[in-house]
Amino acid sequence: MTVASTPESFSEARDHQRIVRYAERAGLCLLCAVHLANGTQLGFTVTAPPCPSCVPIVSAWPIEKLNGWRTLPGRVARQPTWKGHYNLADVDLSRPGSEHL
Ligand SMILES: [Zn+2]
Repeated sequence: MTVASTPESFSEARDHQRIVRYAERAGLCLLCAVHLANGTQLGFTVTAPPCPSCVPIVSAWPIEKLNGWRTLPGRVARQPTWKGHYNLADVDLSRPGSEHL
C-alpha cells in the first residue's frame, strides 16, 4: 500500500527526514517523530496524538497544534533549537521562577 500523501518535492522529503531526526534527538519515539514530521508538513488534523511517553516532551514546546501536539516556532526543519533545547532534561527545575512546572 502506498502513502496517500507523498511529499511534493525532494526538498520536502529531505525536510521530513530532518524533522524526524531532530524530534528523535529531542526525545520522541520514532513513531511520534514521524507523526510530528507528517503534521508539520501536511497539517495536524489527521495526525495521531503523541503517545503517553512522548507527551511530556511535546508539552514543553511553545506552539499549540491540533490533536495534543505542540511544536517549535518557525521552520522546524531548520532549527538548531531542536538539539535538546526544549528537552525536559535541560529544564532547570530548581531555578526560582520555575514553580509553574
Ligand atoms: Zn511516542
